[in-house]
Amino acid sequence: MDLYKFTIHELQDKLQAGEISSEDIVKSLFSRIADMEDKVQAFITLCEAAALKSARGIDGEGQYGGIKGIPYGLKDLFCTRGIKTTCASRMLENFVPSYESTASCRLNEKGGILLGKLNLDEFAMGSSTEQSAFFPSRNPWDWERVPGGSSGGSAAAVAAGEIPYALASDTGGSIRQPASYCGIVGLKPTYGRVSRWGVAAFASSLDQVGILSRDVRDCALILEIIAGKDPLDSTSADIEVPNYSAFLDGEVKGMRIAYPREYFRQGVAESTRAAVMKALHKFEELGAIVEEVSLPHSEYALPAYYIVAPAEASTNLARFDGVRYGLRDSEADNVADMFSSSRAQGFGPEVKRRIMLGTYALSSGYYDAYYLKALKVRRLIAQDFEKVFRDFDLIVSPTTPTTAFKLGEQIDDTLTLYLNDALTVPVNMAGLPGISIPCGLDNDALPVGMQLISWAFDEATLFKAAYAFEQNTDYHRLTPVSGGGING
Ligand code: GLN
Repeated sequence: MDLYKFTIHELQDKLQAGEISSEDIVKSLFSRIADMEDKVQAFITLCEAAALKSARGIDGEGQYGGIKGIPYGLKDLFCTRGIKTTCASRMLENFVPSYESTASCRLNEKGGILLGKLNLDEFAMGSSTEQSAFFPSRNPWDWERVPGGSSGGSAAAVAAGEIPYALASDTGGSIRQPASYCGIVGLKPTYGRVSRWGVAAFASSLDQVGILSRDVRDCALILEIIAGKDPLDSTSADIEVPNYSAFLDGEVKGMRIAYPREYFRQGVAESTRAAVMKALHKFEELGAIVEEVSLPHSEYALPAYYIVAPAEASTNLARFDGVRYGLRDSEADNVADMFSSSRAQGFGPEVKRRIMLGTYALSSGYYDAYYLKALKVRRLIAQDFEKVFRDFDLIVSPTTPTTAFKLGEQIDDTLTLYLNDALTVPVNMAGLPGISIPCGLDNDALPVGMQLISWAFDEATLFKAAYAFEQNTDYHRLTPVSGGGING
């Protein structure tokens, strides 16, 4: 049976009905991976023997439910005990952690089965996976195009049917942007909703663990499991985790939805704008109240982000010195040379660019002019959102200005590459939750993503609205035919 076509909840129904075993699922997915992987190139590491062993163990117990017996993938930024964790960097090419991230630990405790570790832009810096030190992943909708990034391997694997879901991280759009490019669901929860412990840090005040899945129900189910206070992460919030699945009732009657005019303007492709406007009409038809608003400081989010994120990255990456982790140049004559040549060899060009930018912005004399200024802008962006959420339940926008671009098209044009995140970065700057769901295809038959944003810790409203949209449209059922895709 072609089990790669099914969502988590569909697979779980089959397990509980006794139609299939967990071993059947694992075998079916590995045969899918064998068929697809030479084109998708999503995995850095596969864990076939361990996955089969876990599946057999679970089948032996004979009890299913939730995510038990169902496979998943992890962006290779999550530390996995005894399994190589590279961050797609030469620096950590052979790094095997002795500990497990809290988020993946929670999945494993519930019987989730790890199939493998997924490709990304080095240390999650990038928008296409072309910054991976190893190889770029490809978009199952068109092999010539990028899957987005930095969680491009994770999104491509889910879209290609290699895994039903993956955990990833989002600092400025790294879950929502690839979800949008690959036509799947991608959630960045509120800052602090999910523990970041054991996830390699990029920009600690912006990073958040989230989910890539094939539908909204699956996404809600996974957040229920991974969210909540973790004593190992002091920024994880001690706020009750609701039963998100209970909000999936298909109702948006009376919901107040705002669309910020700035997010539909220049740089946004006409076909993207049209698809999201059509989706807004759908919400109206379903009884929601839809109104235009303004988020005037969002246009400054990207420049402020490219001060704050590199500043934090430059300090976070200082730990990679050739002594404690990863690659070491053992030929160097003295310790100072060893530090610098290990870092010169271990880091790729984008990571070096960020470290230089960040170190510059934090240096005395420039700190006030750049870093402090960026923090003030960040506050203004957050206040804009706060104001809108006094009158509205939800904000809707395109996830990205355009659909997936071609491999090689933007890699030499750093600023153009950065613009892919213009509509997702403000959400990280404000610490709010955002979800991207498919809402149409453009003229090249590539998926368009719609971003829903809610107030902090109100993921329930995101799920409620996203599910209602899904129930009343068929976009989430569209799968990549050109890529020999799920229905293709
Ligand atoms: N593309 C953005 C960057 O390169 C966002 C990355 C992310 O969210 N991890 O910084």
